[in-house]
Amino acid sequence: MAPVSKQYDYLVIGGGSGGLASARRASAMYGAKVGIIESGRLGGTCVNVGYASLLPLTITAVCRSVLMRFFVSGGGRCVPKKVSWYAATIAEALAEAKGYGFDIDVKGFDWPTFKAKRDKYIERLNGIYERNLKNDKVDYIVGRGRFISRNKVEVTDNNGGRTTYGADKILIATGGYPSIPNGIPGAEYGITSDGFFELDQQPKKVVLIGAGYIAVELAGIFQALASETHLMIRHDTFLRSFDPMVQEVMGKHYEEEMGMKIHRRSEQTKIEKDGSTGKLRVHYQDSNGTGVLEDVDTLIWAIGRKPETGDLGLDKVEIKRNERGHVIADDFQNTSVPNIFSLGDVSGKVELTPVAIAAGRRLSDRLFGGPKFAQAKLDYTNIPSVVFGHPEIGTIGLTQPEAEAKYGKESLRIYKTAFTAMYYSILEHKGPTAYKLICHGPEEKVVGLHIVGLGSAEMLQGFGVAVKMGATKQDFDNCVAIHPTSAEELVTLR
Ligand code: FAD
Ligand code: NDP
Repeated sequence: MAPVSKQYDYLVIGGGSGGLASARRASAMYGAKVGIIESGRLGGTCVNVGYASLLPLTITAVCRSVLMRFFVSGGGRCVPKKVSWYAATIAEALAEAKGYGFDIDVKGFDWPTFKAKRDKYIERLNGIYERNLKNDKVDYIVGRGRFISRNKVEVTDNNGGRTTYGADKILIATGGYPSIPNGIPGAEYGITSDGFFELDQQPKKVVLIGAGYIAVELAGIFQALASETHLMIRHDTFLRSFDPMVQEVMGKHYEEEMGMKIHRRSEQTKIEKDGSTGKLRVHYQDSNGTGVLEDVDTLIWAIGRKPETGDLGLDKVEIKRNERGHVIADDFQNTSVPNIFSLGDVSGKVELTPVAIAAGRRLSDRLFGGPKFAQAKLDYTNIPSVVFGHPEIGTIGLTQPEAEAKYGKESLRIYKTAFTAMYYSILEHKGPTAYKLICHGPEEKVVGLHIVGLGSAEMLQGFGVAVKMGATKQDFDNCVAIHPTSAEELVTLR
């Protein structure tokens, strides 16, 4: 076995949201000797842009995704996604500007210019992450990490060179990667969210397959930017884990107001690529029968993500994983191996950036912060979350079906409203606003809050604090409304 070149108190595998947060906290606040291993770009899934297009298109989808994951950070996401969401939001505002009396003529949207600016911004962020590590005295180890024992990790650098590091405690924070379906001929002609950020040109016609956050967000962006957008879902609604109000309002709005083509109860039978034009033909079945979509520029699989553990050498340390391959971690982020911890997407609890960050910081508090933090852990209940659709969706707590199953229908009181936000008052085009509060027991504790409409993303954080503190309907009512806003409806519900 190769000698250990450096020994750490804490070695973190994966320089994404959770890994960076945990490594920096351990070193900067508690003086631990920390190293962080990252094979791609610092920042992880939330920040980076993808590199799918650098890989030959002729290789199979599986090879492609494995190679992509090895050489780069796995593509990228929340930040460039939100910047793209802003572009789409501006497109909507420009389309509505005439309704407010502006004499404007929009000539189009310059996707390549937008993409270049977005990429530059992300590059700046990568530099900041590296500087932060330096300031916090965390060793940045470039390469791919792999367990060779419970206390040793071998890192393969970009030239194939290998170095072994030892550590008392090791964190697995390796994130995940997007799934591509098996068994559909031509599935490899599609891309994933990684490839979305690599698109040099705006597709004229795009097909998104999936029904979760990514499909709904990207479909909203394309539709708002005037691409012909087809969303293929397996059931009758998308976002099925969200409150039924959200599913109903957003489905109707995407289809009837925005003009998106939604293929319900659909499945793809074959995807073909035209050798000369590069365009795709998507063969499918949906609730209307069989069909073929011709001249498709881009097909995006957005059908969920898998944990990034393939080449981590987990068999060497006999760590327990669940049936989906996630590294099992308890509430304190302990794995089945005493000195190895896991958090973020690779442990598959709640796949959100602030969750990985919060779990990472709490873990370092507990491991290195002394007796005061002996019980530090992240509370995974009542985590607010937003889908950056058009408009945005905000949610915290239980959906109505979940609350009914947990407490029984009779102990709940549901407050709902749907209205047209004042922004649309003088516009022909109208967007939806719909709010729901789910209250439990005689004191009417708010156990679920679901909002759809303009500004929901920014609104939710404050309401999230209230729900997390255990606010009741009376507490909401006791807060004087801010007028005129949409949010005031949440404190005046009857
Ligand atoms: P990651 O951030 O993925 O970091 C893992 C890192 O580990 C990567 O950099 C990877 O290169 C590295 N790595 C993996 N294996 C190894 C190895 N063997 N050796 C060395 N390094 C390795 N969340 C939100 O809260 N808001 C959003 O708006 C949002 N938008 C999203 C949009 C998209 C398109 C996607 C895909 C995700 C989005 N998410 C969003 C989810 C969010 O990105 C993840 O939940 C978050 O990044 C998870 O952090 P993590 O630290 O667990 O993993
Ligand atoms: P999700 O798990 O959110 O959704 C994927 C959905 O796609 C499934 O729920 C399923 O819905 C559908 N699906 C699964 N397999 C197929 C298939 N073969 N064909 C068609 N549809 C299929 O995954 P995403 O990839 O959208 O996102 C991953 C995670 O990243 C999210 O869960 C979220 O935690 C995070 N994220 C957060 C964002 C934010 O905070 N704004 C933005 C983007 C991602 P059904 O069963 O209804 O068919």
